[in-house]
Amino acid sequence: MDKIGADRVPIGAMKILSCYHEVQQILSGKMPVPRTMEFFLSNVCNHACAGCHSRYMHKSEDQFLDFDTMKEVVDDFAELGVEGVEISGGGEPLMYPQIIPAIAYMRGKGLKVGIFSNGTLLTDELSEFLVQNLLFLRIAFDAGTAETYKKIHGRDDFDKLIENLKTVIRHKTKDTEREKGTGKPRRLTDAKFGTATVGAKYLVSTKNWHELAQAAGLAKEIGLDYLQYKALRASKFTIEGETLEKAREVAVQAEELSDERFQVFGSLEKTKPIGRCFLNPLHPVIDAKGDMYLCAFFHHRKDTHKIGNIYEKSFPEIWYSERHLEAFRTTKPKECAVFDCPFHEAAVLARAWIVENQKHLEFI
Ligand code: SF4
Repeated sequence: MDKIGADRVPIGAMKILSCYHEVQQILSGKMPVPRTMEFFLSNVCNHACAGCHSRYMHKSEDQFLDFDTMKEVVDDFAELGVEGVEISGGGEPLMYPQIIPAIAYMRGKGLKVGIFSNGTLLTDELSEFLVQNLLFLRIAFDAGTAETYKKIHGRDDFDKLIENLKTVIRHKTKDTEREKGTGKPRRLTDAKFGTATVGAKYLVSTKNWHELAQAAGLAKEIGLDYLQYKALRASKFTIEGETLEKAREVAVQAEELSDERFQVFGSLEKTKPIGRCFLNPLHPVIDAKGDMYLCAFFHHRKDTHKIGNIYEKSFPEIWYSERHLEAFRTTKPKECAVFDCPFHEAAVLARAWIVENQKHLEFI
């Protein structure tokens, strides 16, 4: 029999097929339990990236989500059956003063946790903790040189980032070996997953497209698991025309670095929705002010995408409210087309396989 290979990259539209029951619930007019909750625990950031769509939030007075409120919301997630919590921003998650207790609390409730970070605030102790307690750590890795990094991030932190990532990988390697050797429990609860997947995210713009392959080479050398690239949108630094042509060639060079252990993947092409979104209930967001939004792409439509505030109402009250249904029913495809939302591609599969049932999923 031929070997059936499994793609080890934990990102991809195919994952939507695991939400078969949730999508059916949505189609029948009911709100499913979200598969992933995204949290912006911090509104502040130690960097000032060119093209950052959350920059206006960094001036907020409500800098961090209140720790006790966060715990109450996490209790609700666990009770309802949410499975994953993604901590991103907004601001830089590692600036949240109680980041370790927050993750420990989520893990203690049986939730799986992943973080998006710029990686510059990682310490030895924090790296060890994260490697042992996260399902994934994804780091903004937007340059192949210190000079370009500074131009994008507004801080001269590239060398520090590289050193921090080496520390993370050192702990990851140690963790894997220790686990293999002694079988001692290394985590807060009875997690069955391995040490954190550590990847890089490269947001391609007019400032850095030429260093994509160089950055991928560095990420591979450090020992990261993957580098994902994506085009920056809705910015004066968005690549177009001839630059886009050249960037595509560099992307091919970067992808050639993929091997059994390290993957480079992504796309520079603009994605578009196939119609009104029917997937956002799978992945809503709560920001540091407690505001809850339909999805992470809310910055250009804050009022229409806001469905409540967790300082005012509980998570289930907001989630199962009329306001949520109304916001869900009135999303505008034109506004969804501003950014390359991963659900654009996922919706194509979900429509064909689940909505139209082209594969007769009742039969296996
Ligand atoms: S941007 Fe649009 S398509 Fe993407 S999740 Fe949000 S509502 Fe859905």
